Amino acid sequence: MAISESVARAKKIVEEYSGPKVRIMEVCGTHTHEIFRLGIRSILPENIELISGPGCPVCVTPVGYIDEALKLAMDCGAVICTFGDLIRVPGTDMSMADARARGADIRIVYSPLDALDIAEREPEKEIVFLSVGFETTTPGSCIAVRNAGQRGIGNFSILTANKTMYNAYLALKGSADAFIYPGHVSTMTGMQCYRDLAEEGISGAVTGFTASEIITALAMIITRLGEGKPFAENCYQRVVTEDGSKASRRLVAEIMTPCDAEWRGLGVIPGSGMKLREEYAAYDARLKFSLGEIKGKANEACHCGEVLRGECKPYDCPLFGQTCTPEHPVGACMVSSEGACSAFYKYGGDSWKRQ
Ligand code: SF4
Repeated sequence: MAISESVARAKKIVEEYSGPKVRIMEVCGTHTHEIFRLGIRSILPENIELISGPGCPVCVTPVGYIDEALKLAMDCGAVICTFGDLIRVPGTDMSMADARARGADIRIVYSPLDALDIAEREPEKEIVFLSVGFETTTPGSCIAVRNAGQRGIGNFSILTANKTMYNAYLALKGSADAFIYPGHVSTMTGMQCYRDLAEEGISGAVTGFTASEIITALAMIITRLGEGKPFAENCYQRVVTEDGSKASRRLVAEIMTPCDAEWRGLGVIPGSGMKLREEYAAYDARLKFSLGEIKGKANEACHCGEVLRGECKPYDCPLFGQTCTPEHPVGACMVSSEGACSAFYKYGGDSWKRQ
């Protein structure tokens, strides 16, 4: 069968679905944006509900982490190197953009290796890289730490908020009937973790980011849900393999070890974070600067937590499109280019219902 025929069949399955209502959570922020951008929501019948989940690394980074970075920049005099999205995420009192306006040395980089190069060029300064993200970005931080050791660069450290998805799925069990698993992360993990999740009663399909891949995954999910047994499907076989990237997992295991981690909106999920191993403690900014425990306080009016748990839509937040916009974000889900609130704002998801 030609690909176009199989996609046409998948589209028909989705458009004509008349079974019981199903709730499908797209975990990855890029899926959320692509589903909007490609107009896929417009072909869904009412009994297929898509929910945005916690797969945007900036969105799930807790307020306390921003406060830690601010303390390093403002009280410890460190140079903070960060990916761009994080700079506008509000901490308890201010964002890093606010701190930069007040004179803190906060720089945007495109890779942890850029931060390492800055450390080598400016040996009189302490350089801290903000290491956030999932299985796809963690190896980059590990390479930077390993290279720092090999190159003898002692004024470099990382502030870890690295996360892994497996335990988050367990924490989200029951939030949706099935997950659209993230394509990029799955290139690292491979399929076995999803087969393990199916053993735990959690269903989903991995897919890519084109319209045909997403529609095929939706058709697969509603068909398999109809069979009544937990499943793990790979609808992204051109990229995702059974084994994933063993080399990247070996690298990460050499430099980091699992730990409990706080997720914005989900609380502390045991074993869902990654921190540096003791052998690499010299590159751990929390230890290097004796940060101690810093508890952040989110804006009480912000509903990011409920959005990330799939309990409400962005337009259910009273601040959405009012005081919270991409130009003036109140919460992380509006800041990030992968955030659900920014997707709903940009693409007018469900026409904001309240308008
Ligand atoms: S609209 Fe803004 S304030 Fe409301 S949940 Fe989203 S990010 Fe938070």
